[in-house]
Amino acid sequence: MQERFLLMIPGPIDFDPAVLRAMSAKTLSHMSVEFAEIFGRALENLRKVFLTEKGQPFVVAGSGTLAMDMAVANLVEPGERVLVLSGGFFGDRMADIARRYQAEVVVVKAPIGEVPSLEEAEKHLKQGGFKAITATHVDTSTGVAVDVKAVGELAQKYGALSIIDGVCATAGMEFRQDEWGIDVYLTASQKAIGVPPGLALLVVSQRAMEAYRKRRSPVLNYYGDFGLWLPVMEAYEARKVAYFATPAVNLIYALDVSLQQILAEGMENRFARHRLLAKAFQAGIDAIGLKQVPLREEIRAWTLTCAYYPDGIGPELLKAIKAEGVVVAAGLHPEIKDKYFRVGHMGTLTPGDVLTTLGAIERALASLGYRFEKGAGVKAAQEILCLTP
Ligand code: PMP
Repeated sequence: MQERFLLMIPGPIDFDPAVLRAMSAKTLSHMSVEFAEIFGRALENLRKVFLTEKGQPFVVAGSGTLAMDMAVANLVEPGERVLVLSGGFFGDRMADIARRYQAEVVVVKAPIGEVPSLEEAEKHLKQGGFKAITATHVDTSTGVAVDVKAVGELAQKYGALSIIDGVCATAGMEFRQDEWGIDVYLTASQKAIGVPPGLALLVVSQRAMEAYRKRRSPVLNYYGDFGLWLPVMEAYEARKVAYFATPAVNLIYALDVSLQQILAEGMENRFARHRLLAKAFQAGIDAIGLKQVPLREEIRAWTLTCAYYPDGIGPELLKAIKAEGVVVAAGLHPEIKDKYFRVGHMGTLTPGDVLTTLGAIERALASLGYRFEKGAGVKAAQEILCLTP
């Protein structure tokens, strides 16, 4: 297998070598004080990455879908109303999960490339009785970013809990859990958090933990029950041990290293880097002449770009880009699946990666006969990258 290629999909991403090395260390007993130190530090640092002081972190073996499942299963009881703001594939998944837990689900669906309408959401909320509002920070099927702060304000105004799917956003897009009053921010390890797939991560506000404690019925998901995990998370944070189900020890080593790297960069620097690199990459895609899925520039994600294939070219472009040494992802939104492709740009991403990817896309397009000014994409990106000191 060729090892020297760039993995530019929206997760898993190219991981930092130190993070990967951490995974190969000897597996400790999950009941050892040495492991408690590592896990405890990771839990504390997760709170810092989410910019919350009192949020309760949960780190559980599983993928992002488990984190979505846990948020809904723990905070919504059968018959309760949930307002799902859906921008595409993953918003729809949240609605499916809520239905599975017998919630009464109302969906505010965005047209492809737009954000779900907050005006429409408010009309529903005015009718009252919503336990929770959910939104996808960046819907990975469109590359559209939602104004999470505004969703938080809306939820608070109407006394609902806010549940935000940050899987394609966390540690890349700006997010401030306490300041924005978000109740649950959930994510997975394999994207901008920078850890191989296998961890579901959630940070839950004290208000939401209170709502959990007031439940009248048992959580309909045994493995994901907050009540079973809470003593475990509290124990590790106190540098003690406790058992409910075996933690993914080596992935937690990797999480510990990655969170330390993230905090060493600093959250503000990290947000700024993602914003700048996205701006450069997206300017490059515009300059090549490809239309992006987000309908407005202001709603483009900082972690992901979705662009339509030009006329006469289809998914064969992916193979041609791969032949140039960069792996990008196919379309995902069921309505436009074969009409566009996706490029993830988050985590360890450097300016060099942005230029390499644009260069590969240009050469691949040229090989398929697309006519454009060669180098235009790279140049547009450089114009932005060179502006910064
Ligand atoms: N939500 C979003 C926004 C995602 O991008 C993904 C994964 N691409 C998920 C949820 C589901 O995560 P996982 O594939 O890790 O279960």
